Amino acid sequence: MPDATPAASPAADPGWNWTTGPAAYTALPEDFYAPAAAAPAPDPRTVWLNRPLCAELGLDPDALNAATLVGVAPPAGTTPVAQAYAGHQFGNFTMLGDGRAMLLGTHTAPDGRAFDVALKGSGPTDFARGGDGLAPLGPVLREVIFGEALRGLGIPTTRALAAATTGRGVRRVDVEPGAVLTRVAAGHVRGGTFEYAARFVGPAGTRALADHAIDRFFSEAHDADHPYRAFFAAVCDRQAELIARWMAVGFVHGVMNTDNLAVSGETIDFGPCAFLDAYAPDACFSSIDRHGRYAYANQPGIAQWNLTRMAEALLPLLGPSRGQTPDEDPEPAVAWATEVLHGFAGRYAAAWGRRFAAKLGLRDVGEAGPAAPATDAGDVKLAEDLLGLMHAAGADFTLTFRGLADAVDAGPVLDHPDAAAWAERWRTMLRDGGVPSDEARRRIAAANPRFIARNHNVEAAIAAGVAGDLGPMDQLLSVLAEPFAEHAGSEGLALARPEGLPDHRTFCGT
Ligand code: AMP
Ligand code: MG
Repeated sequence: MPDATPAASPAADPGWNWTTGPAAYTALPEDFYAPAAAAPAPDPRTVWLNRPLCAELGLDPDALNAATLVGVAPPAGTTPVAQAYAGHQFGNFTMLGDGRAMLLGTHTAPDGRAFDVALKGSGPTDFARGGDGLAPLGPVLREVIFGEALRGLGIPTTRALAAATTGRGVRRVDVEPGAVLTRVAAGHVRGGTFEYAARFVGPAGTRALADHAIDRFFSEAHDADHPYRAFFAAVCDRQAELIARWMAVGFVHGVMNTDNLAVSGETIDFGPCAFLDAYAPDACFSSIDRHGRYAYANQPGIAQWNLTRMAEALLPLLGPSRGQTPDEDPEPAVAWATEVLHGFAGRYAAAWGRRFAAKLGLRDVGEAGPAAPATDAGDVKLAEDLLGLMHAAGADFTLTFRGLADAVDAGPVLDHPDAAAWAERWRTMLRDGGVPSDEARRRIAAANPRFIARNHNVEAAIAAGVAGDLGPMDQLLSVLAEPFAEHAGSEGLALARPEGLPDHRTFCGT
C-alpha cells in the first residue's frame, strides 16, 4: 500500500461551494438519478492529491478528508446521487447508469465556473447490475495519469482531484487494494443520458435535460433562434474539435461507447486508453475490443455514429417549432439532423487539417482552432503521406513529429526509402509559405509534445504506485504537466517503447 495520510478531522471544510440552484444536476427530474451511499471503507487514506486543481477550484487540499474522498463521509450540504443513463456499448443499446460512482454535487469555483464532483469506485448503486461497485487502485491511478496527460496537452478532459484507498480489498484476477477516484468535470451528462431520457423518461425529460446542458455548457445557445438546434450543432462542433485533438497526439480513447461521450466536450471514461507508440491506424489497445471498433483511425467515424444516436434521442426537440407538439411531422427534424451529422465529417476534417498543418510547422498552433482559416489540400496530403511512411516504417508517432524540428534544414525525418523525397517536398512547402527555419522549429516544438504518457512508463508508474511508491508516478506527472518542455533528469520518459516488449494491452479499468 502507498505511504498514505490517515483521515483528517471530519469537520474540516476545504471550501466547498455547492450549488443548489437550477445549475445543479439534481435540479433535474428525479428520473435522472437515484440516491447513492458508499460501501464501507475500513481505513480511508488519501494517496494522491491534485494540488494545482485544488487551487483552481478554490479548495484547501490539506482539508480534504480521506473519509470524504472514499464517500463514507459526504461533505455537508451534499446529497450524493448516482446518475441514470443508457448507452450503446459496442453498438448495442443498454440501460447503464453510474454503477460504481456517486455525484457529490456541483461546486462553483472562485472564477464562477461550475464543476461536478463525483467519486468513482465508492460502492454499488441502483445501477450496478451485479457489479461490485468498486475500483482497484491500479485503474484509479491510470485515470489520474491520463487525465493529467490530456490536460497538459491542452485537451479538454475530466480530471482527478484525488485518489484514496479504502482499506478494503477488491477481487479482480487477484485481490487488489480498493480505491476511489475523485473526478471533476464541467459536467458528467453523456450522450447516453439523452438516450436514457428519450427511451425511459419522455419528451419533457429530454427537454429538461437539454435545458440543463445548455445552461451548464452552451449558454450561448440560449440566444439562438432555435436553442436546441444550436445546442446540438455545438455538441457536434466540440466533438469534431476534440477528436481531431486526440488524433493529433495519437490518443486512442479505447471505449467510445455512447455513454462515454461527454456532452460538455471533455474526454471522459478513458479506462483502456493509450497513446500510440509506433504509428498504426488500426492500433487498438483494449483487451475487450476484439474487432477494433474503437481503433485509432475509427475514432472520428465512431464519434459521428455516437452523435447520430444522440440526435435520434433529441429529435422531438429539433423540429422547426422546437418540438412543441408530440404529433408533429418528424421529417423536418430528421432532415435537419442529417445535414448537421453529414457536416460533422467536414468539420472534423477541417480540424484535423489545422492540427496536422501545425504539427508540420506550416501554421502556428495558435492558429489551429476552429476560427482559423482552412488548410490547403496540399498541406493535408503532405501530412497524410508522412503518416503513410510512418506506418510503413513502424515509426514512433510522437518522436517522428517532434523530430521534424531537427530536420527543417536537412537530415532524415524517418527511416524509409521514400522519406527523403517527402522531406524535400515538406521543406519546399515551408519555403514557399515563407516560413523561416527558426519559425518552423518553434512552431513544430509548440505543436508536438516531447512527452506523452507512454504505455510502458504508465505501467511502471502504476505498478510502483500499487506497491506503495508513488515516486515514479509523480515524476511522470511532472513531465506530463508540461509535455512540450525539456525536463532535465527525466529524458528517459521521452524515449520510445523498448524493442522486445510485448504489445501493450489494457483492461477495461474495472
Ligand atoms: P465504463 O466502462 O467505466 O464506462 O463503465 C460502463 C458501465 O459499467 C457504467 O455503467 C459503469 O458504472 C459500470 N461499471 C463498471 N465497473 C463497475 C463495477 N465494478 N461495479 C458496478 N458497475 C460498474
Ligand atoms: Mg462509462
